[in-house]
Amino acid sequence: MVAMAKFLCTCGAVVRVSGDIPNPFEWLLISDVKYDEFTGPVDAQELYGEMTHAFRCDACGRLWVYWNGLGEPPAEYSPGSGCLHMSLPRNSPALDEDALAARTAVVRGASLDEVARLLVEDRGLEPIPAVKALRSGAEVRLLTAKEAVHRNLPDRIRLEAEQLWDETATGREVPPGI
Ligand SMILES: [Zn+2]
Repeated sequence: MVAMAKFLCTCGAVVRVSGDIPNPFEWLLISDVKYDEFTGPVDAQELYGEMTHAFRCDACGRLWVYWNGLGEPPAEYSPGSGCLHMSLPRNSPALDEDALAARTAVVRGASLDEVARLLVEDRGLEPIPAVKALRSGAEVRLLTAKEAVHRNLPDRIRLEAEQLWDETATGREVPPGI
């Protein structure tokens, strides 16, 4: 019996049940009672056979545990509201403080525009660091992050940013002294 290769988490992200071996999103559980039955040198395969398979959504931290084997639907465990799940081990590189603030806001249900405003207004980030933080924190494409930040920039900064991005896009250099 094999579980679906992937399914949608409650948060909307894809949870991969099969794919890479070892699966970076899979966790193996064993009860203390079962583990206690093993003594001396342990056969890895035998130990594996006693394990319960669980899959962690990398986006929201939910854990999906196949208590009754991969042939039956998993139980869902949520890390709860707030940023509790931030303390869970992550498979991707650690987020910096700004990206973490963005991630926390996303988990709490903020829209991309709200997160962009949080970065540029509340945290006072310049456009480019804000785009980077939004991209890694909200796990969106670079262009999506760029547009969201751009939409939410204060007018003065938006004009400067437009000029800078135009110059970057056309490869023109910024004249010295400006
Ligand atoms: Zn999720």
